Amino acid sequence: MKYDVAVVGAGFSAIAVTINLMRQLPASARIAVVGDDPGFGRGTAYRSEFHLHRLNVPAARMSIDPEAPDDFLTWLHDHDRAIGGHDFAPRSDFGLYLRDRLAALLRERDSRAKVDFIKAKAVGCLDIGPETTLIRLDNGDGLAVKATVLCLGVGAAPLPLPGDAIAPSTRAAIVENPWRLSWLSKVGRHDRVCMLGSGLTMVDQVLALRATGHRGQIHVLSRRGLLPHAHEVHHAAAVPPDLPHGDRRLSALLAHLRRKVREGAPWRAVMDGLRPHTQRLWQELDEAQKARFLRHGLAWWTVHRHRLAPDVGESLKELVAQQKICVHAGYLNRIEATDPGVTLSYRKRATSTIERLTVDWVVNCTGMERAGIRHSPLLQAMAGRGQLQGDPLGLGIVVNGQSQLIARNGETHRHIYVVGALTAGRFWEITAVPDIRVQAHAVARDICGALEMAPA
Ligand SMILES: Cc1cc2nc3c(=O)[nH]c(=O)nc-3n(C[C@H](O)[C@H](O)[C@H](O)COP(=O)(O)OP(=O)(O)OC[C@H]3O[C@@H](n4cnc5c(N)ncnc54)[C@H](O)[C@@H]3O)c2cc1C
Repeated sequence: MKYDVAVVGAGFSAIAVTINLMRQLPASARIAVVGDDPGFGRGTAYRSEFHLHRLNVPAARMSIDPEAPDDFLTWLHDHDRAIGGHDFAPRSDFGLYLRDRLAALLRERDSRAKVDFIKAKAVGCLDIGPETTLIRLDNGDGLAVKATVLCLGVGAAPLPLPGDAIAPSTRAAIVENPWRLSWLSKVGRHDRVCMLGSGLTMVDQVLALRATGHRGQIHVLSRRGLLPHAHEVHHAAAVPPDLPHGDRRLSALLAHLRRKVREGAPWRAVMDGLRPHTQRLWQELDEAQKARFLRHGLAWWTVHRHRLAPDVGESLKELVAQQKICVHAGYLNRIEATDPGVTLSYRKRATSTIERLTVDWVVNCTGMERAGIRHSPLLQAMAGRGQLQGDPLGLGIVVNGQSQLIARNGETHRHIYVVGALTAGRFWEITAVPDIRVQAHAVARDICGALEMAPA
């Protein structure tokens, strides 16, 4: 089968690229969307039906189209949702919005590029000519395409322990991938649960557990024991960072931001003001400074930057105040079987004291995998053939400024693009909708130019 473009993936990145291609390519173009997930476009993030699983970005910033920033708000109002621009809509609504926007374009079939949705996993991506790539699918089919966009997301992070530190008999009590929400129905009402990791994934899982009637003790264990902050109910306008000229050291940047807060600017507004500059600032750091940031600053960055909806933050605060959630800071050493339950040993942070915690369930809430290659047979196969190189800091795979894939020998694959969190090494801030939509738009524009197809 021959196509002009193959979009590989089934999450937000894939739907954003597809919509942009449909808008930009002429009606004669043919697009294949290869996804292994029946809920196309929703991915892990937007398939949850729990009402308290909210977006962590205000509705006014969640339009799929960077050129029509109010589009999501318009959809919400058209669907009688009483949600304002600074509010945090349920994630399921965002999934419905994406589906509707795609469906509207598909209805304009005579004037738009044709799209075939193929439910399969891509397992290979081979150049078979200067202008043609063969996408191999796990059902045995192959697609010959002129341009490919890999929108594969990143998988769930593995347990933060080597396999030999986990007693095999404890495996049944360990939830390795909590995004498969089926684990919730197995937990007894008063079972003791330990969440490994204290970020947004943990909050999601705690709220889901409580919503299903769980009332037992929840422990949260992470290296620093830091909980995410919440957005303010009363939104303060972003404070532009007016960064000092010349000095691009990380320490100088942090000192500047701290000074702004000391001078009275709300810290959330300072963080928000930084956002449009983050990609550029990241690219100006050298490798050593990036590594330093990841080692020492990442945990702090994450809790300040990726914030909870205000009412979700309140629910979390209440659960902590009522000691329904007990937060521990330390380094996990072992998981052993005990009777009853399983026992986790951890070294308390900044001490040599070993603490023990006995629970019925251990849930891996360490979030998304950073390197992003381990979870993907496709990427592993491509790495094996030297078609890609892993980012030196473990942040996905190497791409150029146009999101085109760079091979191990340094050559650019001009017709293979990568969109989403796998490009974090290049762009850093590229895991959320406001950034991915801009990348998706630019990639579609580039493809349109490269295929020399007059725009629609
Ligand atoms: C729980 C959660 C909540 C979030 N909330 C927000 C939020 O409120 N606001 C925000 O801006 N961002 C949020 N994010 C960030 C989120 O990651 C992005 O918004 C976006 O959903 C990422 O989409 P993606 O398509 O890049 O990745 P994914 O959603 O991971 O999708 C990748 C898809 O590709 C498919 N795939 C992978 N390999 C192949 C293959 N070889 N062949 C075929 N298909 C393949 C996978 O099955 C998957 O469906 C959240 C993330 C999570 C996990």
